[in-house]
Amino acid sequence: MASKAVIAIGAHPDDIEFYMGGTLLALKKAGYETHYLNLASGNCGSVEYNGATTRSIRHTEARTAAKILGAHFHPCITDDLEILYSLDLLRKLSAIIREVKPTVVLTHPPQDYMEDHTNTCRLAVTAAFTRGMPNFKTNPSRSPGEHDVTVYHAMPHGLCDSLRRRVIPGAFVNTTSFHKTKHQALAAHKSQQGWLDVSQGLSSFLLAMEDMSLELGRMSKRFKHAEGWRRHLHFGFCKPEADPLREALKRNYSINADYERELSGLAC
Ligand SMILES: [Zn+2]
Repeated sequence: MASKAVIAIGAHPDDIEFYMGGTLLALKKAGYETHYLNLASGNCGSVEYNGATTRSIRHTEARTAAKILGAHFHPCITDDLEILYSLDLLRKLSAIIREVKPTVVLTHPPQDYMEDHTNTCRLAVTAAFTRGMPNFKTNPSRSPGEHDVTVYHAMPHGLCDSLRRRVIPGAFVNTTSFHKTKHQALAAHKSQQGWLDVSQGLSSFLLAMEDMSLELGRMSKRFKHAEGWRRHLHFGFCKPEADPLREALKRNYSINADYERELSGLAC
C-alpha cells in the first residue's frame, strides 16, 4: 500500500467517470494509490439484454474504464436498485475499506436524484467509520486499522438535491488536463449511450458530463473544467482541519468562497 491511497466509491458503472474521474486522475498524478469500486453491477441498465448479459457487459466496460483511469479495480458487491443500507453490504464494503486503507474516500453526496446514489454515500461513510473497530465484523474478515480518512462528497446530478434545491461545491478540483482521459473512461461504457437516451432523455451522457464539467469550471472562476466536492464532517474520521485534496493538489484546488460564506453563519 502507498502511504496515501484513495478509493472512489460509486453506485453504478459510469458514476465514478461522470462525477469523480478527474479528481482520481489528479490524485494519481500527485502520488496517490487509486482504487475504483462501483457497488452495483449495472444489471438494470438495458432494455435490450437480460440482467445477466447486461451485468457481464458492464463488468467488462467498468474494467476497461478503471484501466483507462489507471486505478485498481474492485468488483461490484450487489445489483442495481439493491444498494440498500443493509448489514450485509456494510460488512462487505467495510472489508474492502480495511484492505485498501484509504486516506481519502470519494463518494456520492448525501442528497441526490436516486436512492442507489444516496445509499452508496451512507454505506461508504459508515464503512469508513468502522475501519478501526475490532468488534465490527467484516465479510470477509479483515483486521481493523488505525489511520485517518477524509471523506469527500461529489456533486449531485444536475447540481441539485432531490428537492430541486441548488447544491454548490465547497471546493473545486481543476480537471482540465485530465478531461480527455476522463472522457475516454466514460466513453468505455458503450452500452450506456443508448440506455440513457431511452431512460433519462440524455441526448448523450458524454455531452451531459461535458456540460457539468464546464459549469463547475465556470463556477470556480479559475478552471476550464472542474469537479466539485464537499468535505464530510471530521468526527470519527480525521482532524478537523484535514483537507488532503488541498494538500495534494495545491493550485489545482480552489476553496469556494460562496460555500464558506454560507457555512460561516451555520458552521458548528
Ligand atoms: Zn448512478
